[in-house]
Amino acid sequence: IREAEKLACYQPAIMSDGHRVEVVANIGAAAEAEQAVNAGAEGVGLLRTEFLFLNRSQPPSEEEQLAAYSEMTQALNGLPLIIRTLDIGGDKAVPYLNLPAEENPFLGVRGIRLCFQRPDLFKSQLRAIYRASQTGPVKIMFPMISTLEDIRSAKKLAEEVRLEVGADPVDIGMMIEVPSAVMMADEFAKEVAFFSVGTNDLTQYVLAMDRGHPALAKQADGLHPAVLRMIHQTVQAASAAGKWVGVCGGIAGDPKGAVILTGLGVAELSISIPSVAAVKAKLRGLSFAKTQDIAKRALKCRNAQEVRALL
Ligand code: PEP
Ligand code: MG
Repeated sequence: IREAEKLACYQPAIMSDGHRVEVVANIGAAAEAEQAVNAGAEGVGLLRTEFLFLNRSQPPSEEEQLAAYSEMTQALNGLPLIIRTLDIGGDKAVPYLNLPAEENPFLGVRGIRLCFQRPDLFKSQLRAIYRASQTGPVKIMFPMISTLEDIRSAKKLAEEVRLEVGADPVDIGMMIEVPSAVMMADEFAKEVAFFSVGTNDLTQYVLAMDRGHPALAKQADGLHPAVLRMIHQTVQAASAAGKWVGVCGGIAGDPKGAVILTGLGVAELSISIPSVAAVKAKLRGLSFAKTQDIAKRALKCRNAQEVRALL
């Protein structure tokens, strides 16, 4: 029986009425791609590339980045790899960038905003990604997009780099982690191939509660109906445009979160490696219709405790 349980993690998450959810992993180091595959992940839905830039005295070269990304495409052996471009600023300090201190770092020059200020860093990363895309199925994802100008500028730069490198186009997606991106999701859906909801940041920005604040940790729950309604709105806007939505924030790896997100129509759950087997097993034991019913009721709850009590 233990052997059968172990092998089950390699089976897809097909629900009792045939609906399938992609279960992929969040990783933040080159060696984790292989671990993700061994744990049953069907690819990588979020590569946090910050690991290449932190704890060192200068930025990584294009070649070093290419080597890291190619190691991952090789380990994934044809499974998809979504590479998120650099997401520093906020709480992640990088001494060699000499970033000025900010009053409100989470509302400051973070993620894509920093990349626009440092096109040298951004372009070398994009060059490495496009070169790595010649070694396996890579998609690009931009973090902290808050305006349409952000996504248009990021795409324009990516296209310039792609032509320089001579690579084929790849799917470009964006993180949904800022309320303005949710409210404008119908417009954003015209710009990208997919959305991935970053519920860690979306919860922080929707509830105005610092994601790392110890006194607010219990209240800052990604299953709060305010966050779930935002995700619902995002899925509606994406599906009207024929685009798919994933979730890569922490609630996707929480079995209760996985059930509700599935019911909201989220197609891909990107979760920590140790959660893969349990989330797949949980979904296999349910019908899509049942999760849709739970999700509908969750949207009508008044707080996160009520949502959690549904399951
Ligand atoms: C998120 O914000 O939910 C997310 C997945 O990105 P990060 O945790 O790296 O900010
Ligand atoms: Mg985030």
